[in-house]
Amino acid sequence: MSDQRDVPVSDEEWHERLTPAQYEVLRRKGTEPAFSGAYAHSKDDGMYHCAGCGAALFSSDTKFESGTGWPSFTEPVVAEAVELHEDRSHGMVRTEVTCRRCGGHLGHVFPDGPGPDGQRYCINSLSLEMEPADAGRD
Ligand code: FE
Repeated sequence: MSDQRDVPVSDEEWHERLTPAQYEVLRRKGTEPAFSGAYAHSKDDGMYHCAGCGAALFSSDTKFESGTGWPSFTEPVVAEAVELHEDRSHGMVRTEVTCRRCGGHLGHVFPDGPGPDGQRYCINSLSLEMEPADAGRD
């Protein structure tokens, strides 16, 4: 997926676009089971887009093996691609990461990452669609 898609305006449209599992994460802030996602261990080169709206969110250049069972990145492809929100659910204080374009829930960010900024973006595979780096080359 290289192009952004229209952002659904109704809940009905979101149900039509997303699988039930994607809907549970993106629209209801669910969390996929650790090690269950398609991209947990992916090392392929490419761009990870929002599964809800197609916005480019994370580059494989910033993906690292965190051992958590979820795709983990040191930073978004551009800071403006995501929004951060304080999340006090489940008896914890965490920072939720959402797609700025469609508002979809992506995961959380923690201050224990390996990069220069020390951030670990812990993202659900169900929120992402990876576009391989060689896509579009004939
Ligand atoms: Fe989105």
